[in-house]
Amino acid sequence: MHRLILFFLILFAIYYLFKRWVRGFFGQTRQGPERKPPPIIDELVKDPVCGTYVPKREAIVYGKKGKLYYFCSKECLEKFKKESGPKDNEA
Ligand SMILES: [Zn+2]
Repeated sequence: MHRLILFFLILFAIYYLFKRWVRGFFGQTRQGPERKPPPIIDELVKDPVCGTYVPKREAIVYGKKGKLYYFCSKECLEKFKKESGPKDNEA
């Protein structure tokens, strides 16, 4: 008799999980595949100041002498400007 109860419990658990899975499955498809955001291809760029790798679209871009530099924060950009500034004046 005990086994029977256990059997039903397992059956119920499977049924419950299946129901949840189905709901999740339809919940995802209901939004439509066309509404799916495009895959984010984030190119990582290196911050020359602190050496951190930041996603290109989130990085602060600074162009100098036709070259682009990417920074993780404004502080790094300012630091870079300060550090590279005097050298540029000399050259
Ligand atoms: Zn940085």
